[in-house]
Amino acid sequence: MATAAATPSIDHNVSSFVAKTHKLLINGKWTAAASGKTFASYNPATGEVLANVAEGDREDIDRAVKAARAAFETGPWSKMSPSERGRLMWKLGDLVEKYLEEFAQLESLDNGKPLKVARAADVPLAADHFRYYAGWATKIEGNTIPLGLAPRGKFLAYTLREPVGVVGQIIPWNFPLLMAAWKIAPALAAGCTIVLKPAEQTPLTALRLGELIQEAGFPDGVVNIVPGYGETAGAALAAHPDVDKVAFTGSTEVGKLILQAAAGNLKKVSLELGGKSPNVVLDDADMDKAIAGAASAIFFNQGQTCCAGSRLFIEKGSFDKVVDGISKEADKIRVRPGFDPDSDMGPLVSEEQLNRVCGYLESGLKEGAKATAGGARVGDKGYFVKPTVLVNTNDKMKVVREEIFGPVVTATPFSDPNDIAVAANDTIYGLAAGIWTRDIKKAHTLAAKIKAGTVWINCYNVFDAALPFGGYKQSGWGREMGHEVLEHYTEIKSVCAAL
Ligand code: ADP
Repeated sequence: MATAAATPSIDHNVSSFVAKTHKLLINGKWTAAASGKTFASYNPATGEVLANVAEGDREDIDRAVKAARAAFETGPWSKMSPSERGRLMWKLGDLVEKYLEEFAQLESLDNGKPLKVARAADVPLAADHFRYYAGWATKIEGNTIPLGLAPRGKFLAYTLREPVGVVGQIIPWNFPLLMAAWKIAPALAAGCTIVLKPAEQTPLTALRLGELIQEAGFPDGVVNIVPGYGETAGAALAAHPDVDKVAFTGSTEVGKLILQAAAGNLKKVSLELGGKSPNVVLDDADMDKAIAGAASAIFFNQGQTCCAGSRLFIEKGSFDKVVDGISKEADKIRVRPGFDPDSDMGPLVSEEQLNRVCGYLESGLKEGAKATAGGARVGDKGYFVKPTVLVNTNDKMKVVREEIFGPVVTATPFSDPNDIAVAANDTIYGLAAGIWTRDIKKAHTLAAKIKAGTVWINCYNVFDAALPFGGYKQSGWGREMGHEVLEHYTEIKSVCAAL
């Protein structure tokens, strides 16, 4: 565990931010919850209360949706030029970057992740999202359509791409600021207005982002931020009859509830859900890179990524070497509070998540799996778990079939690269996959056979605002990022005029 001397002090702005009782951002005003209730956000490195936040519920969601509706229909946003929209978004990206250190510290305290990871990944990527979609604001276009059956020159037909309207966005706790940026940026580029519900475990960076949205000069009601619990605030947002579209990132289980709730007014739905992603190492891979890559594929962000490479398939000739290598990598990982400069892996986000991951470890070991690294909790304060490699598993075990959302990988040998796609696809999920080989023919042949929204070859967890991300099968509906996501935030209108 960290020594006090090694731990950097908390930025003054961060300590005063966490000390405030946070309110909801509705119609450009910081507002108490209608119920007057607040809830606590915890520091997962200590289990202690970090901050208190107004607890949004149905009535607050309703107020926020009304504000978003007014901003969409009649407010300054509805008349703003795409160029001006893009300018505000670029400014927001600059502000996120300006306050990078503050955001990184808040994220590390609230979510647990190493400060150095938040500084290098979460915050810069979030800033880049606002800039990437700032560029899109002026490039959302329709087409002119030659009608197939009409005589030439008799009709003018074209499409308009219009904003879908008021969108509800529900995000998880694993990358709190980045998920907010993934959701908010394309919706703003399209001209929508937003009600965002952050995860109850990690509301702080979204609230700080709300302050910067105001500082950047977005009109009131364009982005409303309502923290609260999933079963109350989240469910009310998904079901709200005046929300035109709901975008959700989280578990497959909750994704199905969102879908049911959305049925009432048939709002548009996009879902980015769970995964149990295969990561395939062939005998001809660059083994040093494959081993380091397989370790980071599962252990990055404490294993709390929906695309974690949690099922490692290793060609028989390399099995012992790769298992030995990844186990050594796991043992080297320093599991410490995120604020410790030496921390490579922080705590899991919550006690609930700790119990879930430890439950999977117990079940795997009881069913006959063997841990070649890790296999248990670290200490008894905070929610730390050892990076774990399990062998001797079989495809019936829960640890192989279910998403653990923690630093636990199962390693399985295979003999024939021609058959590995069948095993890789033997899952209800289809979010991502990895392939490690020097043979480009094998790499691209396998990439074509794997049913997943993203396939990484000789790399893993490479994200970019321009690169679409999302799932096949029960990993979701639709794509985040790239220009594909803009389709979720726009409607196509066909206009056809007789000349
Ligand atoms: P996890 O299980 O990893 O915490 P969830 O899928 O439960 O992930 O949570 C992701 C987001 O969905 C959070 O913002 C959470 O509050 C929200 N949520 C949870 N349950 C519901 C629900 N029934 N309706 C709407 N949102 C929900």
